[in-house]
Parts: sequence; C-alpha cells; structure tokens
Amino acid sequence: MTHLSLPGIFDSVDSLQSFVDIIPCPIFVKDRQHRFVLVNQAAADFFGMHQNELLGHTDLNLFPKEHVAEYWMMDDLLFSTGETNENEEDLTDRAGNTRRIVTRKSPVKLSTGGDLLVAVISDVTEIRQAEAHNRYLAFHDQLTGLANRAMLYKRLDELLGGPVPRHPAVLLVDLDRFKEVNDCLGHLVGDELIRAFADRLVACAGSTDLAVRLGGDEFVLLLSTADDAEAVSDRILEAAHAPFSIGESQVMIGASIGVAKADHGCELPNELLRRADVALYRAKSLGRNRFALFSPDMDEGRQARMDLEAEMRLALADFSQFELHFQPQVRSDTGRVVAIEALVRWRHPRLGLIAPSRFIPIAEETGLIVPLGYWILADAVRQVKALGLSIRVAVNVSPVQLRQTCFAEKVLQTIARLDFPPELLELEITETAVFHANKPEIDILDSLRRRGVRVALDDFGTGYSTLTHLRRLAVDKIKIDRTFVRSIGQMTDADAIIRALVQLGNSLGVDTTAEGVETEEQRQLLCELGCTELQGFLIARPTPMAEIEASLIGETRQRAL
Ligand code: C2E
Ligand code: CA
Ligand code: CA
Repeated sequence: MTHLSLPGIFDSVDSLQSFVDIIPCPIFVKDRQHRFVLVNQAAADFFGMHQNELLGHTDLNLFPKEHVAEYWMMDDLLFSTGETNENEEDLTDRAGNTRRIVTRKSPVKLSTGGDLLVAVISDVTEIRQAEAHNRYLAFHDQLTGLANRAMLYKRLDELLGGPVPRHPAVLLVDLDRFKEVNDCLGHLVGDELIRAFADRLVACAGSTDLAVRLGGDEFVLLLSTADDAEAVSDRILEAAHAPFSIGESQVMIGASIGVAKADHGCELPNELLRRADVALYRAKSLGRNRFALFSPDMDEGRQARMDLEAEMRLALADFSQFELHFQPQVRSDTGRVVAIEALVRWRHPRLGLIAPSRFIPIAEETGLIVPLGYWILADAVRQVKALGLSIRVAVNVSPVQLRQTCFAEKVLQTIARLDFPPELLELEITETAVFHANKPEIDILDSLRRRGVRVALDDFGTGYSTLTHLRRLAVDKIKIDRTFVRSIGQMTDADAIIRALVQLGNSLGVDTTAEGVETEEQRQLLCELGCTELQGFLIARPTPMAEIEASLIGETRQRAL
C-alpha cells in the first residue's frame, strides 16, 4: 500500500505551526507528561499568554492546582483508554470575563511510537445562553414572567410523584370583572392590570410556592403544602380587591378562587386541577369575590348542571317547556293593579317545574338567556295584551341581554309587531347589573326610555350604588328588595332603611315598589312610609295568567272602562 504524502507541508514543526495558527479556534497538543508541544495562536490568545510561554510548560502555568489535578486525571484516562473525552466548564479569563467552554480531547498515536493528545476548545457561551432562554420561554408566561402551565404540570409531577408523597394545594384564581376592564379601557390597561395582579399574587406566595399564569385572567398559586390554603386564599382575595392604579385610571376588580387539596384519592395533576376548577365554579356561582374549597358533593352538582344546560339547549328549539307566571303590582293607596310582572318557569319533563333561580344563571353563563329573553318578552306582551286592559307588563332583563348591541331595536320591533304601546312595557334591571354596566349598556336603556319604554331598578338596596351611580341611568321606578321588607318587625332599624329608600325614590321623582310583601303588618308600615306600590304573596302569588284572581283584574277592568 502506498501512502499518499503531502511533500513539504509537515516537514518541520514551523510549517505545522503556521498551518494550525490559521485555524481560528483554540487548539493545543500535549504529551504524556502534560507538556504543551503545540499551541496555536488562537489558543495562546485564549489563555492570554505568548506561545513561547506555554510550549514545554504544563497547565500549572495557567490554572490553580486543584483544577490541574482534575485535567490531568482526564488526560490520563484518555491515554489509558484511547477514547476521546469532552469537558464543559466555565472559565474566567484574566480580564474577568467568564465564558462557557467545551474542551474536546482526542488521543493521537505517533508513527514514531509516542502518545499525544490533541485538544480543541469551543466557546459555547452564546449557544448555552440561547438554550437557557428557550427553556425559560417554554416554562414562563411572557406577559408576567410567572411560570406557565407547562411549569405547573412539571412542579405538580414532582410534588405528587416524588419519592416522599407531598400534599400540595392548588388555588385556581380567576379575576372578576377583568373582561369589562379590558373591553372598556383597552388591552394595554388590561395587560398592565394582569401584570400588577401577578406582582400581588407573587407577594402572597411563600418561597416554596409557585405562582402561575394559565392564560387570560386565570392564575394558579401552587402551595407546596395545603395547610395554609384558606389563609392564603383570603390574602389573594384582599390583594385582588384593593384598587389598582394604572396610568390615569383607578381600577377595581376582584377574584374568585377554587381550592383543591391533594389527598389520598387525588394524586394526579389533572385531577387536582379539575377539582380546583369545580370549586372555582362554585365560588363564582356563590357570588364571586370569595374562595370555595373542593368537596366531592360539588362533582354531583356540576354534572346535574351540565345536564340541565344540554337540556335547555334542546328546549330552546321551540320554547314549549317554558311558561310565564304573572304577579300583580298594586297601588298601595287604592289597591288597583298597575302592572303585572312576568316570571319565567321551566316545566321540565323529568324534574317538574323549575324555578328561575336554578336555570337563569345557567342561561346567563351560556348566553342562552338571549333567545330565551326575546321569547319571554314577546310572550309576556302577548298575554297581557290579550287581557285588553291598560295594565303595564314588567319583564326582567338580564345584563347579558343588554350586551347585545341590537337589544333596543329588537325590543322595539317586538312590541311594534304586537302593536303594544311602549309606555306599557317596563323592563326590570337589577341594581347590581346597573352598577356593573358599561356605557353602551346604559345607552341602550336610555334609548329605550326615550322611545317611551319604562325602566325599573330591581332588587334595590342590595347593590353598592351610590347616588352618583344612580344618576348614570334615569329610571322610572325603584323596587325595594324583599330582604328589607322581610326584616320589618325583626330588625330594629328596618323602618329607617326603608324610609331612606323611599325618600331616595321621592328625591328622584320616581315610584317605589316594595317587593315580597307577605303580611298585613308589612303592608301597613310600607303604606305609612310612603311606598307607592306593593307586590308580594299577600296580594297574589305568581300564577299563570288564567289563574290571576278575577277580582284583582276585574276591579281594574271596571276602572278601565
Ligand atoms: P325578581 O325579579 O326579584 O322576582 C321576584 C321574585 O320574588 C319571584 O321569584 C317571585 O316569585 C318572588 N316573590 C314575589 N312575592 C313574594 C313574596 O311575597 N315572598 C317571597 N318569599 N317571594 C316572593 P321567582 O319567580 O322565583 O324569580 C326569581 C328571580 O329570577 C327573579 O327575581 C328574577 O331575578 C329572575 N327571573 C324570573 N323571571 C325572569 C325572566 O323572565 N327573565 C330574567 N332575566 N330573570 C327572571
Ligand atoms: Ca323583577
Ligand atoms: Ca326583585
């Protein structure tokens, strides 16, 4: 076999030297005694020494003793096994710059019989930084810098699947009213708010807890032990409720929290999160701004609710399972019926007659209240018109319906189609809904009022309205909530509160209707306090139109004639 030879190139060490000096990455060659026998220019630059200071010397000229011992152990291993090895480490050069480098050493056997080691150094600082950044992105939320869902699962796996079983708790936090802020004040303010809340969430976390943003306005605080779950939840609620100053705006939100604690029956991340979600749902349906702790009975309630939702969708195909009951509202001085309030019921094939408190919240959450609401309006108007009397019909309107931009138009079209005067339609909207309403919703009610439709403020006294809020929307009537009427004779200052509410109505120049009047004692006191209208079981219970006592309506009929 003939050897291919490159005459002249490697004849002398000099020519080899000039050859390797051209190579831009650091290369050096050592003999078995760890002496440098060849060092290229890039390696000399890297070590910050002249080539001549290195040739014939060892690592002891460059590094502290303990490092050198380690390098030499690796060198010896390489010579004895004949295998290439690689070592990654941080090196700080003389200027104080720390770089991440990989040194790859390979053995070379000389034809003359000697053993050498060739080392190539690569600088992987940038690569490792990029990798670390990618790892960061994979496990963190970009907007807030909190951990993300992937990180949450990773940590849950560690806590639940580790050798020592732990009992963490998941606090699933959902901001109340965030969507409104986002819609009203814009996404930039929304983003700021999310960041500000994230900071507050972190402040509620202990050093072994993990604060996570799942996306949107959903967060998790993963507590490494469940003991403090309730106390921490309270702190988060407080933190969410305190006003946020963002740019020019003062923003008030709140939070609902679902809490699930890991126990013996719940050792999987998905199950723990599912339980927290079920509990969150409970917290929201209890009126938000609170936390709920998961308990197994919540699962059953949830299933029943999902069944009800599916059945409602089917029932909305023809509305035949829905019916309206009507309850009269009378003048407190004359007893004359002035209006009839329509109250919807669902005659469910399996469950019988279902009260609105059970299915309206589901209809609102799913948006099904929109088609149902239009049907209620049309049917109520049709039935009251059929009486042939000049009586107003009161129809309850959910805030979800008001978010339909075409709501006012559709209401006007419906009554026009049924040839019903707008003055005889009264829409009841709760005080709480008005308190939370945005400008477009207030505008919708205003435009309906300008066309003659009346607006009543329902469940008055239970919300947080101040006079300033009340001035946002002109109304024709306020309905004093049942709880105040019920407290007559039971609570010492019940009279004073009702008197104040009636006076408020007087000062706004509108009627006041007392809801839930059940006893003669209540009726008398309400009359004395100046309440203009009464509604309640004492006068009549809600019934199908055909069953409304003829005497009640009959009296009105006579007066109408
Ligand atoms: P609401 O608008 O405050 O309706 C009055 C509720 O008080 C009715 O309950 C009525 O049956 C009840 N009530 C009337 N008088 C008395 C009384 O003397 N004592 C007591 N204890 N209760 C009395 P209902 O029909 O179960 O409706 C509950 C709520 O469901 C309503 O409260 C309203 O917020 C909602 N709702 C009912 N119908 C509709 C509807 O068609 N659309 C919408 N969006 N909500 C509706
Ligand atoms: Ca009502
Ligand atoms: Ca009411």
